[in-house]
Amino acid sequence: MFEYAPAPESRSVVDIAPSYGLFIDGEFVDAADGKVFKTVSPSSEEVLSEVAQAGEADVDRAVKAARKAFEKWSALPGSERAKYLFRIARIIQERSRELAVLETLDNGKPIKETRDADLPLVAAHFFYYAGWADKLDHAGYGPNPRPLGVAGQVIPWNFPLLMLAWKIAPALATGNTVVLKPAETTPLTALFFADICRQAGLPKGVVNILTGYGDAGAALVGHPGVDKVAFTGSTAVGKAIARSIAGTGKKATLELGGKGANIVFDDAPIDQAVEGIVNGIFFNQGQVCCAGSRLLVQESIQDELLDSLKRRLSTLRLGDPLDKNTDIGAINSAEQLARITALAETGEAEGAERWSPACDLPENGYWFAPTLFTNVTQAHTIARDEIFGPVLSVLSFRTPDEAVAKANNSQYGLSAGIWTEKGSRILAVANKLRAGVVWANTFNKFDPTSPFGGYKESGFGREGGRHGLEGYLDV
Ligand code: NAD
Repeated sequence: MFEYAPAPESRSVVDIAPSYGLFIDGEFVDAADGKVFKTVSPSSEEVLSEVAQAGEADVDRAVKAARKAFEKWSALPGSERAKYLFRIARIIQERSRELAVLETLDNGKPIKETRDADLPLVAAHFFYYAGWADKLDHAGYGPNPRPLGVAGQVIPWNFPLLMLAWKIAPALATGNTVVLKPAETTPLTALFFADICRQAGLPKGVVNILTGYGDAGAALVGHPGVDKVAFTGSTAVGKAIARSIAGTGKKATLELGGKGANIVFDDAPIDQAVEGIVNGIFFNQGQVCCAGSRLLVQESIQDELLDSLKRRLSTLRLGDPLDKNTDIGAINSAEQLARITALAETGEAEGAERWSPACDLPENGYWFAPTLFTNVTQAHTIARDEIFGPVLSVLSFRTPDEAVAKANNSQYGLSAGIWTEKGSRILAVANKLRAGVVWANTFNKFDPTSPFGGYKESGFGREGGRHGLEGYLDV
């Protein structure tokens, strides 16, 4: 029997203060009404800290600080703005161990993901957009494109620091100033980032961070001093925001939900495809907007592929997210766990067959075993609704056209994957898929140079790459 010695990353590498304020105009301050809320580690249910809860008065104060800072920040030469962004990127690299541990504690995701995926991508985003700051005339939008003003940005809990980087780096590079609200269950790395802004000498008011709940997010996007709304989160909230800003003239980018299809053809290299399927749906416990949550497998290889997939799932290690050997961490919150549990029960009730590897769930914290559903039809709720958890729905197909039709049969259109040895098939199928990103023989690969965003109810606008500049410019 294979034994392994757990090698936990030390919680002590990062100092967590017992309480934090809002970051407004370069200072940490209490909420105007003194309200606070607790942030809890989802793997242990331990209270990590108490943070200020922003209300309308705080939103107003932060937006005014950002407006004031905009005058000077937008007038700086791009090369000067670049210096700040490069400095921020380097500090993120220097402090990435602290940030990775903090993110893992607050979010529940495995340290090997925060260390090897989230943090390198966060730094890469700041480096990439720092490089654009003095080259905007060459971005293809004509000479002298202008920033929009104050960006009100609202982000989710699944990649707290990476979503912050996707929002803040392009906004600052293009000369906008920012008020950002992190999700209520993962406020800590955004507050750490506020401290990095101070360390980098970023002028006051250019970045403001408001911790709080949905009401603060709604007040922020509705504030008349906000020129641009950038939201990543659920489709339901995205639609509510789109309705609330209709007619205000505010620009918006919305990155919403998904139900990605991972399509495996009969000539695919099975072992490689199995790794891609596992990465596609179990990375970050499946709490990924572009997760490959629907497996479409060609009928002739279904049995072989499922046997191989089940063997692989039986080797995944679930547990302490600070342990470097852990593959599956905790679900982010009790609410999210309840949602995943309810959808899995609906899957069984509607007649799909449920399977999980044998696996002990820790006593404290929020946990869900990796789960496969077979006998799934397109009518099943688990084949249609975003579960946002470690649950894979398996469907089969006979022909490439049937695969495309099934993949496109979704209200969403964020991601898809294709597994085949045939290059011509990759191109033919990819061109018919209505998804913002299509991966071939890989999945969940990200790069700051590539635009990312959705079709249909997965949202509109693109983040990342040169296209990510456009959402922050009047061109
Ligand atoms: P959510 O919509 O519940 O919350 C997202 C953020 O919006 C939080 O900060 C929340 O406080 C805030 N919020 C809630 N109500 C609001 C309102 N009325 N007005 C303004 N802000 C409000 O989503 P979540 O549960 O945090 O995240 C999961 C969802 O995010 C999933 O659907 C996932 O697919 C999506 N997501 C999409 C992408 C993408 O790039 N497309 C990336 C990550 C996550």
